[in-house]
Amino acid sequence: MENEIVYVNPQKTQVIYQYFRYQRASKNSEIYVCVKRTCGATLKPEPRIRNNIEHHHPEESHCETECLLAFKNLTRHLEENPDLNPPELYRKAYERLAKTYSHKELSQFWKPYSKVRNVIAHHVRKNKPKIPKETKEIKI
Ligand SMILES: [Zn+2]
Repeated sequence: MENEIVYVNPQKTQVIYQYFRYQRASKNSEIYVCVKRTCGATLKPEPRIRNNIEHHHPEESHCETECLLAFKNLTRHLEENPDLNPPELYRKAYERLAKTYSHKELSQFWKPYSKVRNVIAHHVRKNKPKIPKETKEIKI
């Protein structure tokens, strides 16, 4: 994770790099600015260029960042493999995080499954073939 460029969403409006989060400067801009408004640090992800302003604040919580990334990986994994068991994967992702972070810390950022069930279901459905309404739609 440390030196990876990770886009927070498919629209690429935010990016995480070295536990700092950046917001795209404007629509279609290649430049991202630190989410702390008074900071002034910028990042151009491709090719990777930082301006010479150092962040004047601590980096984001590693726990929060790792939870965010673990959830992103989970939903992506489920989009590619819609037949897997979401609650099971969700539990395993939590267990991996719990090797590094305390349950108390994780509880701030990792929601109970009942709270994310709908979001996960949305990702699972994305790539599942549609259920045919008529027999002529069935292709063998
Ligand atoms: Zn900053």
